[in-house]
Amino acid sequence: MKESTKHQGLRRHLIETLKAKGIQSEAVLSVMLDVPRHFFMDPSLVGYAYEDNAYPISADQTISQPYTVAFQSELLDVSSANKVLEIGTGSGYQTAVLLGLSPQVYTIERQQVLFKQTQRLFLQLGYRPKKHIFGDGYKGLPDAAPFDRIIVTAGAPEVPKPLLNQLAIGGKLVIPIGEKEQIMTRFIRTSKSSFDKEEFGLFRFVPLLENKN
Ligand code: SAH
Repeated sequence: MKESTKHQGLRRHLIETLKAKGIQSEAVLSVMLDVPRHFFMDPSLVGYAYEDNAYPISADQTISQPYTVAFQSELLDVSSANKVLEIGTGSGYQTAVLLGLSPQVYTIERQQVLFKQTQRLFLQLGYRPKKHIFGDGYKGLPDAAPFDRIIVTAGAPEVPKPLLNQLAIGGKLVIPIGEKEQIMTRFIRTSKSSFDKEEFGLFRFVPLLENKN
């Protein structure tokens, strides 16, 4: 499997779809125009890489829908100086998009098989997260905190307190909150002890699992 002009054309089409669905961030759209999603798909589903859908990957998880990746990335509002923490590496696709926005990306995955796959894939494709960790992202990454941006790519019944604690003042946390369906939620830390909370639309994610390996 390689990158070809066919893939570039399919990506241009995908970007038009994302714009039509309301994504406006030029930074996000331009990175997504470049990231080859076909490398992050399960091999049996590669032909669907540039459809705007979520698809199964190993360990009963999913590669997020491109619209969802774009939506979360737009809300996260990453600049190149930001230190970014991602919970739920999954296929690594969202990680690759984040790396197009800032070189300082830390990412955590709790499924070993996915962790190993993405380790290999990042190396192959030349993506270099600052840290790529196998573990429970529910606890965040206290050693590297605070973070300017935190993104959770699995649905949580409520926001994990450690993640709020590890947010820099002025920092943003984007997380889908809910059980069966999730409300996309953004927290902005306004002081040591206060947060603004905004809610944006319904999504469906695989669950954020706590304390299980
Ligand atoms: N951004 C990814 C989304 C994958 S689905 C992509 O587009 O491919 C969400 C991922 O979160 C899954 O891989 C799941 O294993 C992982 N996950 C769930 N609970 C977690 C936890 N507590 N810590 C780290 N990762 C977790």
